[in-house]
Amino acid sequence: LEANFSVIRHEDGPITGLITVLHDVTEQEKIAQERREFVANVSHELRTPLTTLKSYMEALEDGALHDQELAPRFLGVAQTETERMIRLVNDLLQLSKMDRDDVRLNKHHYNLIAWLHEVLDRFEMMVKDKNIEFVRKLPTYPVRIEIDRDKMTQVIDNIISNAIKYSPDGGTITVGTDLHEDGATIFVKDEGMGIPRENQHKIFQRFYRVDKARARNLGGTGLGLAIAKEMVEAHGGTIGVSSELRQGTMITIQLPYTSIYEESRWEE
Ligand code: ADP
Repeated sequence: LEANFSVIRHEDGPITGLITVLHDVTEQEKIAQERREFVANVSHELRTPLTTLKSYMEALEDGALHDQELAPRFLGVAQTETERMIRLVNDLLQLSKMDRDDVRLNKHHYNLIAWLHEVLDRFEMMVKDKNIEFVRKLPTYPVRIEIDRDKMTQVIDNIISNAIKYSPDGGTITVGTDLHEDGATIFVKDEGMGIPRENQHKIFQRFYRVDKARARNLGGTGLGLAIAKEMVEAHGGTIGVSSELRQGTMITIQLPYTSIYEESRWEE
């Protein structure tokens, strides 16, 4: 607690009062602490790929450049690390926009089911060479929902990418919906490594990873789910996780319906 005192007196006259202002500094201190941690995290996340880049470039300079086998491999690493830094900076810019309350949602009415089919068709094309099967638990009738499609596509892409990243070879990923009176739940379920119970609530925090080295090797920035959470909340929804170690993980996104009486065009 921080206290400021001021005395009340008329010119040089007697003191007639005292004003005490008490500030609860715990909240301020918490914010300052979080900011320091965030800056430390960002610096660390950028330094790691930069150090890697530097050492590979030095190796190229020291002769690997003329090695038919090493040169393309080292350049490949340099490219992967650069791409990850670009992803990281893009994620950071997005978070900074959201921190400034600068998320303008461009919401329209869509058919939730058609949108999910589209997303899954795209992923099925992408994982063709991997041994992963997608199962769709989607109704045959359309479900109308009002979303910013680009932003929600980013959210669902991130969640499905995680499911793929943490799935074993031959794993099944199930994507489906549960429809309630006041909203729709989208779920993405995998048969991957799972997340220990004590870490589950932290996965939506910025830069939190259960296994840092492993997640980094898989190309993650540690910001995907933090961004997803903010996007979903900007839509008035919630995001959650349930997971069993070595059994799999299920991420759920709950989105509210908007008034069905509102007459506006559907966009496919
Ligand atoms: P990352 O870029 O590291 O994937 P995310 O914010 O997307 O960052 O996820 C945070 C962490 O949550 C991951 O590093 C991982 O430890 C854990 N996680 C997310 N999705 C899954 C999943 N489907 N299975 C197991 N762990 C997961």
